[in-house]
Amino acid sequence: MLRIVVLGAAAGGGVPQWNCGCPVCVKARSEDPEIVSTQASIAFSRDGAHWYLVNASPDLRQQLIATPQLHPAKGRLRHSPIAGVILTNGEIDAVAGLLSMREGSPFSIYAHPRVLAILKDNSIFNVLGEKNVARRPIEVEKPFEPALPDGSPSGIEVQPFEVPGKGAWYLEGKAHPAGADGAGDTLGLRIADKASGQYFYFIAACARVTDELKGRIRGAPLVFFDGTVWRDDELIAAGLGQKTGQSMGHISMSGDHGAIESFAGLDIARKVFLHINNSNPAWLKASDERKALEHAGWQIPVDGTEITL
Ligand SMILES: [Zn+2]
Repeated sequence: MLRIVVLGAAAGGGVPQWNCGCPVCVKARSEDPEIVSTQASIAFSRDGAHWYLVNASPDLRQQLIATPQLHPAKGRLRHSPIAGVILTNGEIDAVAGLLSMREGSPFSIYAHPRVLAILKDNSIFNVLGEKNVARRPIEVEKPFEPALPDGSPSGIEVQPFEVPGKGAWYLEGKAHPAGADGAGDTLGLRIADKASGQYFYFIAACARVTDELKGRIRGAPLVFFDGTVWRDDELIAAGLGQKTGQSMGHISMSGDHGAIESFAGLDIARKVFLHINNSNPAWLKASDERKALEHAGWQIPVDGTEITL
């Protein structure tokens, strides 16, 4: 059995974002508090006792407080059920939460060498000493089995794969510590319970759905997928910024070759958007956009949603 908890579904900034007065953020602060959402991350477990995070968002401390499954075991003076963190990219909203895990509990970080190079290059992450926090390189298309704290196998198989995307935006125009953009900047994950064969996909950043990706995910029981923007130019149209979704490495939900169209007919039992920017009108439950995505079989999860496979 696999248990999955959505810790947060929002893109960078969350909902509401501290400095934003867009319609979604204003509603989240006033009449629509149920759309308040922290920045995207999930936790998953096979045994309910040991959990792995996919990415460590800047909201991690708040997410851990709000998630009983991740509280220290009763009676333990120091303990965390979190056995590891798997990083799918080096963006701030994927790695900043690591700094909230610095109080000496052991866990492992699993990341591509390109992301590990970013951590190594930023000395603030040295607060996570190698003695307690092992940094374990993962490779594209090489399945691995995360370890339990005592070193025994977890019974979970994680297969990282490359998806169309781009490197961390704060490194744009700067030298990446591991060289030019390449495979490993943006990973998708296939996460499986080895005993039951149940599995799901985590693809929270993706610039386009290629035929290869369609073939990979066809028929999957569950896919978490990039829901950053409803339409490619929505930040520009709303006067919130100059970047398109594509320029940030994110596909749009709607439109030709958008996520909704691309997933139609792929026979995926449960489709869940993650990493949804606060500019995206689909946050609003009464919006045409929300109705359209739900009509197409998609969901936007609230923080704390647990899914069992
Ligand atoms: Zn906003």
